[in-house]
Amino acid sequence: MKLTICHLYPDLLDLYGDRGNILALAARCRWRGIEPIVQRASLGEDIDFLGMDILFIGGGSDREQGILVQDLMRREGDLRSAIDNGLVVLAICGGYQMLGKYYQMAGGEKIQGLDILDVWTIAGAKRLIGNVVVDLDQSVLDDNLDQSSKSKVESPPLRTLLGFENHSGQTHLAEGMRPLGKVSFGHGNNGEDGEEGVRYRNVFGTYLHGPLLPKNPHFADLLLELALQRREPNTCLMELDDRLEKIAHQTMVKRLLKQP
Ligand code: GLN
Repeated sequence: MKLTICHLYPDLLDLYGDRGNILALAARCRWRGIEPIVQRASLGEDIDFLGMDILFIGGGSDREQGILVQDLMRREGDLRSAIDNGLVVLAICGGYQMLGKYYQMAGGEKIQGLDILDVWTIAGAKRLIGNVVVDLDQSVLDDNLDQSSKSKVESPPLRTLLGFENHSGQTHLAEGMRPLGKVSFGHGNNGEDGEEGVRYRNVFGTYLHGPLLPKNPHFADLLLELALQRREPNTCLMELDDRLEKIAHQTMVKRLLKQP
């Protein structure tokens, strides 16, 4: 079995080691005997989104977002079709913002977005920086994250996301758009409504760097299972022994929430 992962703009959108998400997805495939095929594409390079299983877009500075916007716009139709066909997408921070309607920077200039996500971003007066803990929305948990019925390894399923944010953009979700969850530590989408990220079809946008997936193995497996099930509906991922990853995750969550 193979799984194709596209890393879009790896040279421009790779703040805070976001490429670590690609490494985590590829490793969790290999540990299960699934061959990961990673394809990279940047300015002027074509990619067949329909042939991809997972698309990853990392974060970047305002400058890089301005550089790539025209190239991204020409991909809008193909990407929208692939997303409507169930393509799994993970977009971090700047990549997340670019899937929305627009990103208005501090000086008032707007960077156009793909308008695939019904969200918009406006730069705030201060950067939102620091660790983040998110209590995952039940709709995300119901999608394979709640491994209790399947887990062969005696440990409770993780119900939080852990990461690090650094953004001036404050993202707002239109009515009906579902966040990934509620922020229990940190700022999240905008530092005001207590929400973080967004989920639309199989598209997941989030401000969580870290990189995200090594800190959240359950979320990495959600993306992998959704991608595999799109090709073979009855696919079920073999459980991995994530005890150490879960201990690290839970230790950090407890430390941030000042829990015993
Ligand atoms: N340039 C965007 C902002 O400052 C995104 C930053 C990022 O990707 N970390 O909000």
